[in-house]
Amino acid sequence: MIKAKKAGQLIVISSPSGGGKGSVINGLLKNDSKNRWLSVSTTSRKIRANDIPGVTYNFVTKEEFEQKIKEGYFLEYTNYVGNYYGTPKEFIKEKLDAGIDVILEIEIEGASNIKKLIPEAIFIFIMPPSLRVLIERLKKRNTDDKDKILERFHTAYKEINEVTKYNYVVVNDILEEAIEKVEAIIKAEKCRIDRIEEVYLDTKEEEIHELLMDDKDFQNDNLSQKIN
Ligand code: 5GP
Repeated sequence: MIKAKKAGQLIVISSPSGGGKGSVINGLLKNDSKNRWLSVSTTSRKIRANDIPGVTYNFVTKEEFEQKIKEGYFLEYTNYVGNYYGTPKEFIKEKLDAGIDVILEIEIEGASNIKKLIPEAIFIFIMPPSLRVLIERLKKRNTDDKDKILERFHTAYKEINEVTKYNYVVVNDILEEAIEKVEAIIKAEKCRIDRIEEVYLDTKEEEIHELLMDDKDFQNDNLSQKIN
């Protein structure tokens, strides 16, 4: 009786470094790897020990990145803490057309550029429970030197103030609960009235009449008079 849009949804997830969006996204992909796809960004930043080229990012030089900008390769890109990051256009449309939800894990400026291009995307901000927890997480990652950690912390502090640009905010204190909340958001978004293409009645009025007349619970009820 209801025909919903088949197209997948574009889900934009941001959080400051140390906010825990990576773990939340891993959880989402684990829950439904068939119908969800995480876009792999291109970056000019240095490879870290836990990076897997082609999986966590496609790594290029600054010059290669700038060439790709010229070629119109990116849906959006930004310069974040001194490095380029960009979302390639390729695959996104075909995945969405095939009914697969596409997840973009990007920072706030990229998210606001996507909002201009695709306002119907879902914008979710993953928030650390406190600034103290955030700095502890940044220190624990042990991937950056002190100056870089401080720079990331300041950037994160500024980003948290931009949370109102998003549709949803999820505090990532207990990971499983944060994942559950994001799942609930995605589920609810699929029921939005603007995703319903058509509401149709597949039974004619006369057929409904006959259906009720045949029903023994209604037979002695003078139904035909009531309906007519
Ligand atoms: P990291 O260096 O920690 O991997 O990422 C730094 C920031 O860049 C994170 O907030 C991450 O979400 C963001 N980022 C990663 N890929 C992209 C992208 O393609 N576009 C934008 N705008 N930001 C990205």
